[in-house]
Amino acid sequence: LLLLALASHSVAASPPSLTYLVKVAADGNATVVMVYSSNTSGTFYTYVPRFERWNVTVWKGYVVSERVANTSAYFYYNATFEYFADASGIFGMNISFRFPFASLYASGRGWFMTPLLGAPPNTVVTVLVAIEGLGKILDVSLSGVPVAYSLENGTLKVSVASLSPEGARLTVDFRPQTPLEETTIVESADSASVRVKAAPYYRGLAGTIASVVRRALPRIRELFGYSPSSVEFELFLPSRMDLSALGYVMGEDINAGGEGPIHLNLALVRFKEGYLETTIVHELVHKALGALGVPANSELRWFHEGVAQYVSIEVCGELGISVSDMRESLESATHIFSNGLAKPGFVQEWSPSGNEGNYYVASYYIVASIAKEHGGLDYIRRLAEVVRNMRGVRSKQRLVEAMSAAAGEDLAPRFREWGFEVQSAPTVPRFAVALAAVALAAAVGFSLLVIVALRRRSQRCPYCYAEVPRDALYCPYCGYPLRPSSKKPNGYYSES
Ligand SMILES: [Zn+2]
Ligand SMILES: [Zn+2]
Repeated sequence: LLLLALASHSVAASPPSLTYLVKVAADGNATVVMVYSSNTSGTFYTYVPRFERWNVTVWKGYVVSERVANTSAYFYYNATFEYFADASGIFGMNISFRFPFASLYASGRGWFMTPLLGAPPNTVVTVLVAIEGLGKILDVSLSGVPVAYSLENGTLKVSVASLSPEGARLTVDFRPQTPLEETTIVESADSASVRVKAAPYYRGLAGTIASVVRRALPRIRELFGYSPSSVEFELFLPSRMDLSALGYVMGEDINAGGEGPIHLNLALVRFKEGYLETTIVHELVHKALGALGVPANSELRWFHEGVAQYVSIEVCGELGISVSDMRESLESATHIFSNGLAKPGFVQEWSPSGNEGNYYVASYYIVASIAKEHGGLDYIRRLAEVVRNMRGVRSKQRLVEAMSAAAGEDLAPRFREWGFEVQSAPTVPRFAVALAAVALAAAVGFSLLVIVALRRRSQRCPYCYAEVPRDALYCPYCGYPLRPSSKKPNGYYSES
């Protein structure tokens, strides 16, 4: 009888199913209910949020064991359930949790992203998304690749044939039915007023931005003598942006003395601690250097980025903000230069083609290694003083002179060793110059080759610069979906 029952049962068996029901309120916050059912006993794994409470309700059958493990995705655990079907042969359970900032809104557009979706490969996965106030859908993608969808009564439905073991994300770019009104949220920070242009939902974010400015500005003033009466922020959506940026300031604004707003990627509200903070300080440093008379031209861009990166990490570290994984990833990325395997001088002409990440790392390496040898942030303070007395610097030659003056030693030989074309004050015999040029050409060629080879092994997240596994479909640090490497477009982290 038992054998017979089993036999008839297996005939009736269909694959287990997992349905995600995501309900997004007008403010962009969502609730997620995952409905799993199976008509056999078995094992099921999925991803559950690390920083939100999640509830399990078993509505048919029994869960006999539950195991929760870390994953490479920072915001998610892997949860595995072993279950038995009940007498009617059915097992069913729900997992529910809150999912804040599921949709983000800026400049008349909306951008939605699911939590990390996960299920064993044989599971039929369906994602249902109901976004309040949904207007026109512009794009629906699964881990960066456009997918087919249907729309019924305002609910978007996507069937996923098979999820890869590392999971996937569904994103929706859309226009809201009625565009959200953006206001300027004003907060005071230190001696400055912080003005954030954003939808009213982001009052909390504006408060966080102001508190970062409040804490960092006194130190920025000490280091650069930069003391703005107001700092303006504008927010942009991940979908709209130049893919490389967590934040940016316009070059023209910097070159006009550090004016203009700081643009922040709204996706930062979903990032782990440290990213929003360092991005704000990084952009403040660009403004401070602009005010000192250092343009962000192609000859000095490396200095801007190197100082912004170095100071943002050091200052945030002083303020007790967690920057350890940024430090670690920069340390490991700069090994290639500290080992002498490559020379960072290729940044002297900022012309990245598909490898801007290398330019950032090399720029950081140059500034950090000189600063660390000469007093850290205090070296930056002395350097800013020298630059102020020079009424700004506009060329790498003048910059190396300023850096030498602040260091109390001639740094030109070191820069030449790194592959820079800069002179010390005394003239050099022509023959030596020609020799140096040949050596330089060889060195630059070599460094690029080595970097390309090195970079084949991993890729960088275009949003947070974290180093991520080459074939990752999402960034384990910030959660942003990454395209599979073979389908990567011409983003700067492209590897071909
Ligand atoms: Zn920058
Ligand atoms: Zn990331």
